[in-house]
Amino acid sequence: MTATTALAADNPFFAKWETPFGVPPFDEIKLEHYAPAFEEGMKLEKEQVAAIAENPAAPTFENTVEALERSGALLDRVSMVFFAMKSSMTNDELQAIAKDIVPKLSEHGDEIRLSEPLFRRIEAVYEQKDDLDLTAEQMRLLEENYKSFVRGGAKLSPEKKERLTEINSELSLLSLNFGEHVLKENNRFELVIEDEADLAGLPEGVIAAAAETAKERGHEGKWVFTLHKPSLIPFLQYSERRDLREKMYKAYINRGNHDDELDNKKICAEMAALRVEKAKLLGYETHAHFVLEDNMAKEPGKVYELLRKLWKPALARAKAEAAEMQKMIDEEGGDFKLQSWDWWYYAEKLKKAKYDLDEEMLRPYLKLENVLKGAFDVATRLYGLQFEKRSDIPVYHEDVTCYEVKEADGSHVGLLYVDYFPRKSKRGGAWMSEFRGQSKKDGKSIRPVIYNVGNFSKPTGDKPSLLSFEETETLFHEFGHALHGLLSDCNYESLSGTNVSRDFVELPSQVMENWASETEVLKMYARHYDTNEPMPDELIEKIRKARHFNQGFATTEYLAASFLDMDWHTLAEADPDKDTLAFENKALDEIGLIPEIISRYRSPYFQHIFAGGYSSGYYSYIWSAVLDADAFEAFKETGDLFDQETAKAFRKNVLSKGNTDDPMKLYKKFRGKEPAIEPLLKRRGLD
Ligand SMILES: [Zn+2]
Repeated sequence: MTATTALAADNPFFAKWETPFGVPPFDEIKLEHYAPAFEEGMKLEKEQVAAIAENPAAPTFENTVEALERSGALLDRVSMVFFAMKSSMTNDELQAIAKDIVPKLSEHGDEIRLSEPLFRRIEAVYEQKDDLDLTAEQMRLLEENYKSFVRGGAKLSPEKKERLTEINSELSLLSLNFGEHVLKENNRFELVIEDEADLAGLPEGVIAAAAETAKERGHEGKWVFTLHKPSLIPFLQYSERRDLREKMYKAYINRGNHDDELDNKKICAEMAALRVEKAKLLGYETHAHFVLEDNMAKEPGKVYELLRKLWKPALARAKAEAAEMQKMIDEEGGDFKLQSWDWWYYAEKLKKAKYDLDEEMLRPYLKLENVLKGAFDVATRLYGLQFEKRSDIPVYHEDVTCYEVKEADGSHVGLLYVDYFPRKSKRGGAWMSEFRGQSKKDGKSIRPVIYNVGNFSKPTGDKPSLLSFEETETLFHEFGHALHGLLSDCNYESLSGTNVSRDFVELPSQVMENWASETEVLKMYARHYDTNEPMPDELIEKIRKARHFNQGFATTEYLAASFLDMDWHTLAEADPDKDTLAFENKALDEIGLIPEIISRYRSPYFQHIFAGGYSSGYYSYIWSAVLDADAFEAFKETGDLFDQETAKAFRKNVLSKGNTDDPMKLYKKFRGKEPAIEPLLKRRGLD
């Protein structure tokens, strides 16, 4: 009996999953199963890849490119579960496994990408690609493979390959540490309020949630506020205690900046230096040049061009917004200048004064279950999809719910898990990913298993989870990514679903946000949690009137972070000792950011670029916003938000296609033309 077969007896990763749809058996997976499964997964993939590389037969598309695509199934299986748990169910043991395994995975990947005999075979197939009679999708797979090997360093000298492997391994570990620090920082700070008078201005629901947090954290009878968004944002919006708002906000913007074991400043500089060194090894001017070549934007100049085009009108609008707030402060007799920690508070007050609208008026109509049903109903009306709750499917936490998604005719589309409440083991933000991607094998479609994770307002006491409008839009956003994964209809997993370029991937997600605030759609889902009354017309009208409110701020804080990302990654010199904050200040000074607004992310907690896949890619949201505003315009032009022809075209040319063709080609097939920037400017009131 080999070690493997001995392990196989009790390690679910080595067994066939006898669960509905073959989903991960979360109830059986234990911490000790990961490391052996990773080791065995890497070993098997090595053997499979060696068999391809050493195949005595002449290289063909099938025996090389396609065979490579089908290798590594066990490693994929354990990775998908492990990294999902690391993001939303982590603990010290899991973090320790990650620290051990992540650099090994990095080296393992490099060993494959840098294998000389394997690359020679891929190159041989690539060189005869026009004579091979490949389908369009096969051609794309071949080209993407060849490109990823070249970009992975396959053509480098042995010495350079060695250095590249070291850099990749160091980067993987730094990025892991960065994320762990932010998670710990998020959990470390708490504002404990003992005197009820210090709660002045806070809505009842927010106070109730703070009391529950206090109870959970061992401060029964008091109130605790944390840096988790559902706690932080309402505090900034409503607390009359300016000093406490300052305290909360400063704690938020100084995460990873306390010169202690959780400090991330040095990691930022080190990662930026390693990235430029790597880019240069591979023959690029900067990391941004390296990354963008593989995106729609193609080069940094194009990104800066878009950012600058939007920056001027956005900043002008933000300055006007600040002036309005200052006027309000002065009129109230407040003898102070508006500061960054005042922005949410006065924005909320100003919205109330100008539009008689405030966040708390909306929440009762935005019960989580209703909002989710709203998102589902939009997908039903657009694509005929049906959603059925499945309580027989194992989940990894009691807050998780699983839905089966079906076509109008009842045939199976895939599964969607939703996991919406914050907890200490979950990182901040919201995201979509998958436990299994879509592909086809032997003519049969293997359907995807998708999940959405968020950090939304929890139920408190006898009240259900009541979302803010921003949380509602985020739910629609992640659901849009989920549809991209679910409706995928591709042959190869590496080209399927959301495996598209970074500046295209936010199109399916952001386009969904458009429906959330349309009158017709609000009428479908926004119902009072208690009375089930639909949201009154006058309230909907107020939302419509206030739609441009604070857009100067939102666009400016976002663009500032995008500039910061680009500035970090267009560095042409590697300096691991760079002063991170000095660099950041200079970058933000150069664009003229006003002190009342802080970049949406500061470097030490900018996880998108230092612990996620968005380095030189944070601009993607606004790039995709040009696409999504233009795409939504296509529906509006028909006079029907659910126009079937347009929905069919979007599904056929975008949602089902993954990365099987060039994104701009896909977009043009849907829209009949390239996207225009005007709909975006109009939507944000920046025209
Ligand atoms: Zn997104």
